[in-house]
Amino acid sequence: MFSLVTAGLAFVARAPPTRYTNLPAVRGGSVQAALPIDLTGQVAFVAGVADSSGYGWSIVKALTEAGATVAVGTWPPVLGIFEKSLSTGKLDDDLILSDGSKMAVPKIYPLDAMYDTPDDVPEDVKSNKRYAGVGGYTISEVAEKVASDYGKIDILVHSLANAPEVKSCLMEVSRNGYLAASSASAYSMVSLVQKFAPHMKPGGSICALSFIAAERVVPGYGGGMSSAKSQLESDMRVLSFELGRAYDLRINTISAGALKSRAASAIGGARGEKSYIEYCIDYQKANAPLTRDLEADDVGVTAAFLCSPLAAGITGVNLYVDNGVRVMAASVDSESFKGFKFSYPFPMPGEPEPA
Ligand code: NAD
Repeated sequence: MFSLVTAGLAFVARAPPTRYTNLPAVRGGSVQAALPIDLTGQVAFVAGVADSSGYGWSIVKALTEAGATVAVGTWPPVLGIFEKSLSTGKLDDDLILSDGSKMAVPKIYPLDAMYDTPDDVPEDVKSNKRYAGVGGYTISEVAEKVASDYGKIDILVHSLANAPEVKSCLMEVSRNGYLAASSASAYSMVSLVQKFAPHMKPGGSICALSFIAAERVVPGYGGGMSSAKSQLESDMRVLSFELGRAYDLRINTISAGALKSRAASAIGGARGEKSYIEYCIDYQKANAPLTRDLEADDVGVTAAFLCSPLAAGITGVNLYVDNGVRVMAASVDSESFKGFKFSYPFPMPGEPEPA
């Protein structure tokens, strides 16, 4: 169980409104227990986990810490290496939870979110050695397997993206590259929702990961990925209505800041050189209102909150977890400002710390 506030935080003593009867009791003018994110007894499926470097892993850990049973979907080409990392203990340190216990390795389902049914899988994929011996990885098959293993599930998370031409700008990306990005990174969420929603409990919650490039220009984030993230956010809003009415389900996106995950590290940069995502992280740190490092866990706990009953009234929202960088319309570390003396009571990039 996560704590949003530390125990003992003083509240004004008055009888709690009756509709908050599930919140901690007020005793002697202070709340004795913390406001919990309690997912005990809930089942979650997180699509897009293959190592411990990305947002998916942090979401798995946060949901587990909150008491949920978590299963994951892993892309077949990286399934072997993920399973090996787990079985050889390479990820043991990353399995440690905040109370010191070791997280049980979540059940892993091979999942290729490019394909909805077995009929969609092309021959060259079926016969590819990275798919050899891996069956039932299309979205509809995985949804059925998860439902048959767990019954109705409560939480669905989409934490995956792929763009074969991510290094190409929009002026150069091919039709196939653009559509592949859209298929793997946006339609995959729609399809997961279609196939999983009938297997979800009313009151359940869905969450997907987006990026500021959905709405503003992020040079270098190419291959149609910016378009795919715009689609993802738009689809989330439309689905909030459809899912709310049809299934009493909620859906939200988290617009996450830059993180050095495996997928992000592949966006650009030669081996041994500073990668594109490292430049993005430096930019974020230099220009965001908050200069702290953005941690994957910042997104993990936000997902746990959004998927919890505490967020029962929140759907159709794109929530930014980015240290605030999106609000900046000027880059304070820009060469253009070099030499200008801002009159702030704190140092700007390049200025010395006050003595
Ligand atoms: P990650 O490498 O941890 O996750 C991406 C996952 O997608 C990988 O496990 C990969 O195997 C999987 N994947 C790729 N193609 C797939 C397919 N066809 N079917 C199933 N799985 C597939 O990297 P991440 O950066 O944490 O990405 C998770 C999500 O967060 C993505 O939606 C990404 O766009 C988003 N995001 C990342 C950043 C960042 O800076 N890293 C910022 C904002 C949003």
